[in-house]
Amino acid sequence: MSMLIVAGLCLLYLGWLIGKPYYIDYRRDQRRKQAFPLAWLAILRRRVPYYRLLPPDLQAQLRGHIQVFLAEKDFIGCAGLDVDDEMRITIAAQACLLILNRKTDYYPKLERILIYPGAFMVKKQEIDEAGVLSEYHDELAGESWGDGQVILSWQDAADDARFFSDGRNVVLHEFAHQLDQEKGAATGAPILARAEHYRPWSEALGAEYEQLRQHADAELDTLFDYYGAEHPAEFFAVITEVFFEQPQAMATMHPELYRQLKNFYRVDPFDWH
Ligand SMILES: [Zn+2]
Repeated sequence: MSMLIVAGLCLLYLGWLIGKPYYIDYRRDQRRKQAFPLAWLAILRRRVPYYRLLPPDLQAQLRGHIQVFLAEKDFIGCAGLDVDDEMRITIAAQACLLILNRKTDYYPKLERILIYPGAFMVKKQEIDEAGVLSEYHDELAGESWGDGQVILSWQDAADDARFFSDGRNVVLHEFAHQLDQEKGAATGAPILARAEHYRPWSEALGAEYEQLRQHADAELDTLFDYYGAEHPAEFFAVITEVFFEQPQAMATMHPELYRQLKNFYRVDPFDWH
């Protein structure tokens, strides 16, 4: 008898495991179809002017993604900050720009977004080649962790949403890291749609990364922030910011790189600006 109960429980568990992805898809579909609250729409229009650039079908897709994102992710205020809908919508809208038109699992590793009122201090450690450990404090606008959280400065997230053509956007930057971290440590190579995409991706990004490093060393003018020369993962995050915010300049000055990102993000911001 007890064997039967155990077998029944195992079957139930197995059924749950098999059915869970379908249930999640169903719930997400329901959420996307819900009416988007008018108060949220007003925030979206006021706080995220980029929204108005999008064609109507992508605006609708973005509203649907925001509803799923807000239902699935926790927002936590830090340093006494009270999180409100202005913050949640402004951050979710920018994060969800990166998943338009793509098969998405809504940043599956991400559980929570921590928000500070402004730039926040973090303690960093560094060991140099001689084995000397040094500690220092760094002031950051954002940070993306591989184990479930993104940390953002609200001041920077709000300002970067407002000035959407300057090629700088902390939310796009940190969520590009999240895409990169879906397969493990951030390397500048997120999961691509097809196996044959990896080679042209690594050739184009590798060559441009090297060029940025050289130009940064020589202190030459560049479209991309020198910060992108620090690591291939930072390069991917930095070019993502420029792809969405300065697509004409990027398509003209770095056509192959632009093509690779257009292929990856499955949108063409060139047509929106
Ligand atoms: Zn970064």
